[in-house]
Amino acid sequence: MTGARKLALKPRGDKRAPDAKLEPWPILIVDDDEQVHQMTRVILRDLDFQGRPFKCIEATSAVEAAAILDLQPEIPVVLLDVVMETPDAGLRLVRHIREELGNHQTRIILRTGQPGDAPERDVVLAYDINDYKSKAELTAQKMFTAVVGALRAWIDITTIERLNKQLSELNDSLEDKVSERTAALEESNRALARSKTRAETALLRETEAKAQLRQFLSMVSHEFRTPLAIIDSSAQMLRIRVEKSDPGGVARLDTIRGGVQRLLGLIDTCLADEQLDSGRIVLHEKSFAIAPMIEVALAHYRVAAPTHLYSTRTEPELAVWGDPGMVALVINNLVGNAVKYSPAGSEITVGSSQDGSDVAITVEDQGMGIPAEDLEHIFERFHRAPNSKGIPGSGIGLHMVRQIVEMHGGSVTVESRLRKGSRFTVRLRPSPGPGAEGICPVRDGLSGPTPDDTVVAPGAGGKISGSDGG
Ligand code: ADP
Repeated sequence: MTGARKLALKPRGDKRAPDAKLEPWPILIVDDDEQVHQMTRVILRDLDFQGRPFKCIEATSAVEAAAILDLQPEIPVVLLDVVMETPDAGLRLVRHIREELGNHQTRIILRTGQPGDAPERDVVLAYDINDYKSKAELTAQKMFTAVVGALRAWIDITTIERLNKQLSELNDSLEDKVSERTAALEESNRALARSKTRAETALLRETEAKAQLRQFLSMVSHEFRTPLAIIDSSAQMLRIRVEKSDPGGVARLDTIRGGVQRLLGLIDTCLADEQLDSGRIVLHEKSFAIAPMIEVALAHYRVAAPTHLYSTRTEPELAVWGDPGMVALVINNLVGNAVKYSPAGSEITVGSSQDGSDVAITVEDQGMGIPAEDLEHIFERFHRAPNSKGIPGSGIGLHMVRQIVEMHGGSVTVESRLRKGSRFTVRLRPSPGPGAEGICPVRDGLSGPTPDDTVVAPGAGGKISGSDGG
């Protein structure tokens, strides 16, 4: 409890000038000696730290100081005397601050006038204080240094605590977000699992339905073929017998035979389409010239359907990459349809040309055309336009055409005007080689739709084999 010393001190806490608008740093002076309060006030009055002046809050006893700290726990520094109302009042206050108030941020500088009562080493070890000064040696400069040091420590501690708090808040919100996201993910996983099960069930049903269709087709094919062959051969024999005696009977027998052929063709087409659909067809691709294939197809139709005029517009050198048997089937289906859906005497033109990086094959007729609203459905299985009513057909041919073309990585499109005609365009990949190597021996008598019939699948028994069409 020493008196005030003479001050010759004008230090600044930092380079900033004190700002009247900034809150002063509250410093709690706890001492029962009025002179100590006065001296501290004088020292701190003209000083500042970080542009903020100091404000002395004064308590003359430990009890008073405890009450102040209870109300203002954010006081950064306490300058604390030891001997006040009792010889260890200051030390008891330290315990109270740390243990009862739970205040570990406030920096406590012990300022003792009688070090003998509270030896520094014992006090520093036993109490959570931050500095120990003897009043006798505490010059103005040293006090300022001690206060600024304590303030810096308080700023660091409170900053760390604030950041820790923010971090844990952030952690909490992150955890909330993670659990929200996890719940959402789990829900979408469950939804995914449900749709997977639905899709698997649907797939299973579809596979079963396809297997049944295949079974049915093979049964129909097997059970119908023999009686149809018997009907056909009987009609043929009868025809020979009545040829001379009954010309009217001949025509009726021809109608019977035409019907039989149509039924056989339909069975073959259905089988071929099903084979394509179930992916049981393997392509045997190679390079081949397209113009000769078109010529062979047209030669067939010139004989089978002499009612029409046939012309070509082909670029002779063009070669495509594909399965010749399959491509021939496509051309024959399209030409067969052109014959079927255009009047006798009209012209059918088949062309081939380079179209960008593709080879385009076109089949044009001057027939009935396709209604605009049917164009987008025309390649769907069993779809028939209303204007084809009365003309025999199954609606399978174009579906098959599209499947074959797409298996080749190509495309098929149609343009059509009612009562003016239609043009189908098939785009295929060109031969990668410099010319047409391995020109395909196009099959004789390629079976396409006969003028009065639906598509007839190629080869013996109408089976698609993915061959070179030989
Ligand atoms: P189908 O001829 O056996 O009915 P397609 O699948 O070959 O079966 O043809 C589907 C439908 O497309 C036909 O029923 C017909 O309505 C229409 N169509 C196909 N080609 C032509 C064409 N060249 N001209 C007019 N309509 C056509």
